[in-house]
Amino acid sequence: MMQRRLLVLDDDDAVGNTIRLLAMSLGLDARCVSNPKGFFAEMARWEPHVVVIDLAMPEMDGVEVMRRLSGIQSWVKVIITSGMGSSVLDAARRSGLGHGLDIVGVLPKPLTKQGLCDLLVEIPEVVRGPSVEPKSAPIETPRTSKDDLVNAIANHEFVMMYQPKIACRTTTLDGFEALVRWNHPSRGILAPDTFIPAAENFGLIDALSQQIFRQSIAWFSQAFPDSQERLSLNFSAKSIKDFSLIDQLSNLCREFSIASERIILELTETSAMDDPLLSLDLMTRFRVKGFHLSIDDFGTGYSSMVQLVRLPFSEIKIDRSFVVKGARSQESNTIIKSIVDLGQSLGLAVAAEGVEDLDTLQYLDSLGCGLAQGYFIAKPMPGEVASRWAKERAVTA
Ligand code: C2E
Ligand code: CA
Ligand code: CA
Repeated sequence: MMQRRLLVLDDDDAVGNTIRLLAMSLGLDARCVSNPKGFFAEMARWEPHVVVIDLAMPEMDGVEVMRRLSGIQSWVKVIITSGMGSSVLDAARRSGLGHGLDIVGVLPKPLTKQGLCDLLVEIPEVVRGPSVEPKSAPIETPRTSKDDLVNAIANHEFVMMYQPKIACRTTTLDGFEALVRWNHPSRGILAPDTFIPAAENFGLIDALSQQIFRQSIAWFSQAFPDSQERLSLNFSAKSIKDFSLIDQLSNLCREFSIASERIILELTETSAMDDPLLSLDLMTRFRVKGFHLSIDDFGTGYSSMVQLVRLPFSEIKIDRSFVVKGARSQESNTIIKSIVDLGQSLGLAVAAEGVEDLDTLQYLDSLGCGLAQGYFIAKPMPGEVASRWAKERAVTA
């Protein structure tokens, strides 16, 4: 079997050699170089399968090396290593991913054989060589064409799931978030991540949202005609220029006798919000009509603070990536805590999504986070199941 090749770039020869020896003990062919010039020369000559890149180097730092690497080839597996702490390593990892590199993982210093071994087993074809016939062939995700989507919208193939949001302190039901699924005739139930971006790109998101809003508000008005619960709808940032959505939503609320104050529109912070005046106009008009606005996936954007102060939001939703890791990661805890404080000081409701256990729910409550959503409370459910869930809960409460 052909041996896999691993190349180490570290300005400290001793460290580079340690990694080289560790890799060799794991059955790889390994070399190390101590400067970027040597690194790029070996890249061209020796064509390694895996590279280990140190971040702090005198001539050209690891981030710059990755940037250049992405310019010449992006398929090599990259492991980042540094003694600079997890936040620096994580930032470097995101930077590498942003440049389209295949980042296998990060290796904090001081190095351990186990740490390197754990990363290398993540890439079995490197440790064992590429299998001729992969046992589980990668599942081909068929591309969604514009025609597919146009037909699906015409045939009403989209179904809604509803996930409850509760008050952390009292666990009373606050409302539901509507989450769309595509009930595809041959591919089964598809998650939104597999078709929402396509709908956005093909200019079909407004037509799709219209259907989603109608279905969701119809269900909501039937399940919760005159109560306090609220319905959260996801609003694509691509729709920010479609002012007719305001009237459509207002009309739907009128048609189904739902006060607009009971509807929360969730917006993620994306580049589409780059047009500050347009988004400010649209959001202000939503607020004037009574709708609430929530900033979704908070903490993952680039200018969250700025957006939040500038735009008329009434709720912050802490991104689930922080919440899911919450109990285990000190950094996530710090982020959650500062978002809760920020929300409180701006007078906004704070909701955490991705709550998967009781500990997290209690922890959020101890920080003063008002609302929680996640698998621990309930998974997204079809409309009928969701309304039954709410009724049964009200009885036992
Ligand atoms: P999102 O708005 O952040 O929605 C929350 C996602 O987290 C949902 O994924 C939900 O199923 C998932 N989730 C809820 N609780 C937990 C938990 O405890 N743990 C974990 N790991 N995950 C949890 P889903 O339904 O796959 O939706 C993915 C994204 O697709 C949504 O993220 C939203 O951005 C988008 N989306 C969903 N429905 C719509 C829609 O009707 N319109 C638009 N424009 N986008 C939608
Ligand atoms: Ca959402
Ligand atoms: Ca979210």
